[in-house]
Amino acid sequence: MNYQAFKKKRLLVRIISSLLLTGFVFYIALQKNLQTWHWIAIVAVLALILVAGRGFCGFLCPVGSSLDLIHFICKKLHVKEIKRSEAFNRFIRIFRYFFCVFYFVLHFGLGIDPGWALVVLLIITTPIMVRFWCSICPVGTILGLLNRISLFRLEKDMETCVSCSACSKVCPMQNDEVFTSNKTGDVSSVSCIYCGMCVGKCPKKHALSLKVAGRKIL
Ligand code: SF4
Ligand code: SF4
Repeated sequence: MNYQAFKKKRLLVRIISSLLLTGFVFYIALQKNLQTWHWIAIVAVLALILVAGRGFCGFLCPVGSSLDLIHFICKKLHVKEIKRSEAFNRFIRIFRYFFCVFYFVLHFGLGIDPGWALVVLLIITTPIMVRFWCSICPVGTILGLLNRISLFRLEKDMETCVSCSACSKVCPMQNDEVFTSNKTGDVSSVSCIYCGMCVGKCPKKHALSLKVAGRKIL
């Protein structure tokens, strides 16, 4: 599949899944007593999310899709984006684990809902830093740890790669492992959301490919 066709199909999947997942969450939240089939549905959705790894962030998550939409609109309005330094990216890659623990302790341990603070963070950062929230999102952080065993794979062929770095420059997750890794095969990192943008930007056909359950989709 070429990148333009992939982009259109991914957009369709994202719209449908965002509507379905948002509807599902609201529907479950409105139930006074959860029936057995509600629990079966919740477990099925959670299982789907876990096997997708961070493919969930790139294809299914309503928050991620909304952030991309906001960022797209801001770009059209010529809002200037901040270029994140490598030092900042390195800090964020470590900070996200502390933030993940902090968030879950706050939410489940102390019963404090940091929801509104996070909404403010999203509104402030999204126009100027693409997918910044996704870099520290607690759910994304946990799913990232499952990336190596998830259904999604980002693969690189070192024999074809010309080390141009176009892949890391276009990555919305500031993931440089796709460029720095010098092995042929799986280059999925904990940050990769399998958006396929690096594959679309790569000047060498077949240097990068995206697979789901072993089947090449891009
Ligand atoms: S964009 Fe493609 S050719 Fe360039 S470094 Fe990345 S994988 Fe290699
Ligand atoms: S490495 Fe490629 S597929 Fe993964 S998030 Fe970055 S651009 Fe998307």
